[in-house]
Amino acid sequence: MVSINPKSPILVTGGAGYIASWIIRYLLEDGKTVHATVRKLSEHGKIEHLLDLQKQYPNQLKFFEADLLQARSFHEAMKGAELVIHTASPFFISGIKDAQKQLIEPALEGTRNVLQTVNETSSVKRVVLTSSVAAILGDNIDSLSVPNHTFTEEHWNTTSSLTNQPYSYSKTVAEREAWEIVNKQNRWDLLTINPSFVMGPSLSKRLDATSVDFMRNMLKGAFRPGVPNTRMGFVDVRDVAKAHVLAGFRAEAKGRHILSNQVLPMLGAADILRAHYGKRFPLPTGNLPKFLVYLIGPFFGLNWSYTEKNVDQPLEIDHSYSVKDLGLEYRPLSETFVDHAEQLLAMKLI
Ligand code: NDP
Repeated sequence: MVSINPKSPILVTGGAGYIASWIIRYLLEDGKTVHATVRKLSEHGKIEHLLDLQKQYPNQLKFFEADLLQARSFHEAMKGAELVIHTASPFFISGIKDAQKQLIEPALEGTRNVLQTVNETSSVKRVVLTSSVAAILGDNIDSLSVPNHTFTEEHWNTTSSLTNQPYSYSKTVAEREAWEIVNKQNRWDLLTINPSFVMGPSLSKRLDATSVDFMRNMLKGAFRPGVPNTRMGFVDVRDVAKAHVLAGFRAEAKGRHILSNQVLPMLGAADILRAHYGKRFPLPTGNLPKFLVYLIGPFFGLNWSYTEKNVDQPLEIDHSYSVKDLGLEYRPLSETFVDHAEQLLAMKLI
């Protein structure tokens, strides 16, 4: 049981990110004081939306510069915090040239740095870490070895590596490290939020988040010729943000929490958008046969190994613990996808 003083500042790392921005907004709406870290305060475009929130909630939001790879860079921002929400970690799955440098080091070293600072900051009582279902499973084919092809918080990704699904590997090693560190002491506890693919409106005009990029590509017709028949878990960014806040303040909450509303084939996401928008967007209408994915996939960053292990493979994800332990209610995915498209239209980003 951990009780957080609602008056103490809450540190949110990676504050300008897609998910973190919603976490910050909910905390501010709730009257909390937030210390947000960003890599470079001079990158105005990245924090424009947060500056608006700062004006809307005077004296509640303070910015700090911090980089995952710089030891001690989180010290100042963490001062006086009882709750630390660590979201910062690189999230991209294509265009990777050096997985060790671009993904593994920031994820792992960053988690070490932040938690080392937690160990040195006596006010901290709880850390909520944004992990991922990528730390639970690597490829969909892994589901053949779990009961009913269904993953729960008991499972760990044991198949990803530097060369196979390196992003998933980065999330797995970072979360494992976090549990190792927390288990060496008893002043603070650790909860993890493990979302599947996060969709839904962004608070900023940034286009570099993988989730935003996926939705833009979908709406702009990048998948028009067809999509691989790959099952994916989807969840709303607002549900994910709320889960972080609930995890922070529910005294009795504990452990890992899968955040995933529903598993759908990729085409299912397009079907939901089509049901609302009809022919307004050039959405895919069918699955590509697997042999074709083998053939043309490499041009889109899908290598043979990915196709073999993910296309036409089963996948189920059990989210019941998030409902039980956090009291979370999931909003329908139709709202998630449509609100996301509406935000992109309203901001003239498609
Ligand atoms: P974003 O790309 O929007 O956010 C990533 C954040 O990490 C950014 O704020 C970025 O900072 C920060 N970051 C990256 N590298 C560094 C670094 N070296 N030092 C400091 N900060 C760094 O993506 P999301 O909001 O989607 O991702 C947030 C978290 O959620 C990540 O941990 C990701 O793995 C996890 N996640 C995301 C899912 C999704 O579908 N979106 C699913 C499951 C988990 P900056 O603003 O300066 O660029």
